[in-house]
Amino acid sequence: MKEKYLGVHVSPLSYEGIIEDLEGRMAHGRQSTIIAVNPEKVMAAQRDEQVKKLINSSTYQIADGIGILLAARLKGGNINSRVTGVDMMANLLKFAEEQGHPVYFYGAKEEVVTKAISNIRATHPAIPIAGYTNGYHKDEDALVRKIRDSGARIIFVALGSPKQELWIQRNMSKLPNVLVFQGVGGSFDVFSGTVKRAPELFRKYGIEWLYRLLSSPSRFKRQLNLPIFLMKVMRSR
Ligand code: UDP
Repeated sequence: MKEKYLGVHVSPLSYEGIIEDLEGRMAHGRQSTIIAVNPEKVMAAQRDEQVKKLINSSTYQIADGIGILLAARLKGGNINSRVTGVDMMANLLKFAEEQGHPVYFYGAKEEVVTKAISNIRATHPAIPIAGYTNGYHKDEDALVRKIRDSGARIIFVALGSPKQELWIQRNMSKLPNVLVFQGVGGSFDVFSGTVKRAPELFRKYGIEWLYRLLSSPSRFKRQLNLPIFLMKVMRSR
């Protein structure tokens, strides 16, 4: 059962639960989309009905970040562990390697996406890589043809939000053989080693936001969404 925070759906499934569910859907040729939900996106959904629709029409809305967990605690919900975009991608890479599903990487700068792929090849030697394109490519139709011809079954789209979600929404019907679409934001930057993940201690206590704030103070404005979101959730029915 999905939970709802300020009208935005969140899936309570774990990484394993999602993979298991995905396997069933893939066996039936059904397409699935994975979107990361955080307070920033829930707040954007309050301002823009289209964003809300985009999130709620996804197959899996994963609780990326501590904000949704805090909201669940406030409201007595069942979501009690995070499913982050980057770890979801890691789980899907392992799944793709085990099952032999070809993977496509779309997004980020050329040197970032190529470095991410070479790191992934090193840790997943058997993974079938269908292809890649950096996120600054202009001809969308040509790109869609390239992806279609690549034989990809799983695609990671790393253009930032909501750009990546809009891209997926526009193009998924033109890519009937691609069965899994995940919008992964800055995850290629993490896999490439360009951006470091928060140290273990920060992750353990769910205070990655503090680490990010300390390492790039310009994110402060984005982070203001967290307290505002929690206040709104508290006031909501
Ligand atoms: N990006 C891209 N094309 C664009 C804009 C952004 O490929 O037109 C990439 C950018 O290089 C970066 C990622 O999208 O790798 C955005 O990461 P960010 O952390 O901003 O995304 P978030 O997860 O915060 O939405």
